Amino acid sequence: MKFYSLNKKASEVSFKDAVIRGLAPDKGLYFPEKITPLKNQFFEQIESLSNNEIAFEVIKQFVADEIPENDLKLIIEDTLCFDFPVVLLEENIATLELFHGPTMAFKDVGARFMARCLGYFNKLENTTEVTVLVATSGDTGGAVASGFLGVKGVNVVILYPSGKVSEVQEKQLTTLGENITALEVEGTFDDCQAMVKKAFLDNELKERLNLTSANSINVARWLPQMFYFFFAFKQLKNKNLDLVFSIPSGNFGNICAGMMAQQLGLPIHHFVASTNVNDVVPRYLKSGVYSPKPSFQTISNAMDVGDPSNFVRILEIYNHDIETLKEHLTSYSFTDKETLEAMKHLKNIANYIADPHGAVGYLGLKKYLASRTAQGVFLETAHPVKFLDVVAPVIDETISLPPQIQQIMDKEKVAIKISEYSDLKSYLLG
Ligand SMILES: *Cc1c(COP(=O)(O)O)cnc(C)c1O
Repeated sequence: MKFYSLNKKASEVSFKDAVIRGLAPDKGLYFPEKITPLKNQFFEQIESLSNNEIAFEVIKQFVADEIPENDLKLIIEDTLCFDFPVVLLEENIATLELFHGPTMAFKDVGARFMARCLGYFNKLENTTEVTVLVATSGDTGGAVASGFLGVKGVNVVILYPSGKVSEVQEKQLTTLGENITALEVEGTFDDCQAMVKKAFLDNELKERLNLTSANSINVARWLPQMFYFFFAFKQLKNKNLDLVFSIPSGNFGNICAGMMAQQLGLPIHHFVASTNVNDVVPRYLKSGVYSPKPSFQTISNAMDVGDPSNFVRILEIYNHDIETLKEHLTSYSFTDKETLEAMKHLKNIANYIADPHGAVGYLGLKKYLASRTAQGVFLETAHPVKFLDVVAPVIDETISLPPQIQQIMDKEKVAIKISEYSDLKSYLLG
């Protein structure tokens, strides 16, 4: 399988090179040259397959030739070592909980899969070390740190804005040690991101280090997110109703993986992209004009994205035709006030504690289903405990810390303070 750059000014590469590079040399995102639907038999038997078996069938064609079957099976087994339950909340409304992994956000699956692929390629070649450089506003850093911990030949450097991530998130970034280093940046998330971008363009660094990124532009982080949609389908009892997924979206990597699942033949009738007030996609579907804006800060902060990087992949899937896209995708945006009300509502009607991101997903699903009958599933992308300061006042109940969080809260934070690009550069060269 080859991957081409969506900017069409770089040559095609293998899965391995796409993973190691992250972004193509022409700054385009990589996209698979071909998508072959899975056989009917696979869908007929899906209820009798394990999650590992499903994942293997789903990802195989994208990785084939580069990681032998048995090694790929081991990578999958190691990646998917937790549950993905579907919880029914109302008639025809269910949530798919994606927060049962080590850092309690859905990014665990992509980060773990990518880490293991990189580790495999590294062992194979016995080449020099790879440095994964990533800027985080909260969840990405924790998932990447945990996913890459102890992977040989890979060093991870995470930049986060000082004082702007939650306490739980900071502990997840700064307490692991080993091959994980946290750089605490005096500045905002945008400053962190700007430094990372500058590093990727720095020729001196390029000569001395193998730098790669670990956000959802990387195909090894993006593609495994297809699994979720198959796991939900497997668990749904009523497969006769049209299936509608609502995905709380920021960079649009997760929803774009759902669209890939649809291309593989999974019977998904419609997607709802639910956003907070960072509404570039809902505006695009209404007006046909794509106009990115600087992001606003909200209570669902993992979706505070003003220019979603995966949107070009969505356009590619639907042949850059907005009418075709609209047949498959509806998008709504919601305010923080509406989000808080939805959290309260879910607690009242179903005794369910949603996090702010899941609540946005719920709102989008309800709005879409107001005039239709279908089986709706919204994705719950983070455990509510990760956003305790927002969740606790709404639900009026204490939430106990799950063991994987309790464990790190007692550990000591270790981070290196930096304030400008030259600090980052001398650390990396140092
Ligand atoms: C990253 C994240 C999202 C947004 O996912 P995208 O793939 O960027 O659209 C939603 N919720 C949570 C909790 C996240 O961490």
